[in-house]
Amino acid sequence: MPLSDITTRIAAAEAKAGRAPGSVTLIAVSKVQPLDRVEAVLEEGHRVFGENRVQEAAGKWPDFRARFEGVALHLIGPLQTNKARQAMELCDAIHSVDRPKLAATLARLADEIGQCPELFVQVNTGEEQQKAGILPADADGFVAECRMLNLPVRGLMCIPPVEEEPALHFALLAKIAERNGLDGLSMGMSSDFETAIALGATHVRVGSAIFGERVPI
Ligand SMILES: *Cc1c(COP(=O)(O)O)cnc(C)c1O
Repeated sequence: MPLSDITTRIAAAEAKAGRAPGSVTLIAVSKVQPLDRVEAVLEEGHRVFGENRVQEAAGKWPDFRARFEGVALHLIGPLQTNKARQAMELCDAIHSVDRPKLAATLARLADEIGQCPELFVQVNTGEEQQKAGILPADADGFVAECRMLNLPVRGLMCIPPVEEEPALHFALLAKIAERNGLDGLSMGMSSDFETAIALGATHVRVGSAIFGERVPI
């Protein structure tokens, strides 16, 4: 689907929800996509991209950044502490802050480097064993802990279970964010970003709807 179709749908969803135009940031998820497709979206003027692996991001984005100004890169996948420094140097936002050890590492590195990307705390709203994220019951405590470490927590992120109604998970995430005084909500992907916008998403992460199906590697 052309990028302009997605941005049109986002604008319509913003209007329908009574939200300000431009209040939702579209993160174009370029993981595993052929470079020529990513380049085409850059050529169209889009500048906000998401990757889920530090290694993969490091392989393609320095080159693109040298050629296209104003790129913002969001890390949306799990982050190991030993990749944290590289992630912080490469990315403008990290959406997968999900455990105390990672928060402590980010805080230490932020002191050392003198800056820190915007952070989103990932919440495992479906309480799925195999999925990353802090459990909903532990979210308030963890957000407080991140704030104690002076980390710039912008909001919360979730990936709903595949088989469940995403709206329930988006509403839960919005509720946890609200009671913690956070207004950033990273939620909604190709199949459900309009629902997420209706429930307050500030950042939608859309991959296959823009670039086409990912070819498995
Ligand atoms: C891949 C990915 C997306 C994009 O998924 P699509 O269904 O292709 O839009 C969004 N969020 C995360 C965390 C992802 O890993």
